[in-house]
Amino acid sequence: MRKSLTTYHKKREFKKTPEPKGSKKKISKEQMFVIQKHHARSLHYDLRLEMGGVLKSWAVPKGPPKRIGEKHLAIHVEDHPLEYARFEGIIPKGEYGAGKVEIWDKGIYENLKSDSLAKCFKNGVIEIKLLGKKLKGAYALVHFKEKNWLFIKVRLKK
Ligand code: MN
Repeated sequence: MRKSLTTYHKKREFKKTPEPKGSKKKISKEQMFVIQKHHARSLHYDLRLEMGGVLKSWAVPKGPPKRIGEKHLAIHVEDHPLEYARFEGIIPKGEYGAGKVEIWDKGIYENLKSDSLAKCFKNGVIEIKLLGKKLKGAYALVHFKEKNWLFIKVRLKK
């Protein structure tokens, strides 16, 4: 089990929630992303980017930004297992994140920076191109304070 999934496991009771425990260790060549619409106590969208064998995750209350220059708050949350990219279902009442989870968009993404994704994440500035069904194009994630990042739609540099 990946060490960075400790928090994910601590928060969940796998006998009660249908969410995946996660066992995959393989790192695939293509990096996937998923955005899940999560009808929790307050509706939000969960952005997850495959990085280093886990899904780096952010909760985006307003959903993805639509226009170039638009910035939406993205709260960094615990790493999720790769299997979570396929998860749709209902987290039972009383469990962590109770409510319906549905896949809103998914696909692969490309790192637009010359530094590795791990380094970009550490530095708090990620620039990527999403190749999804709904979302296509360049986006940035910029860390600004504690768990708070900005999810920004940016112009694709040619
Ligand atoms: Mn969520």
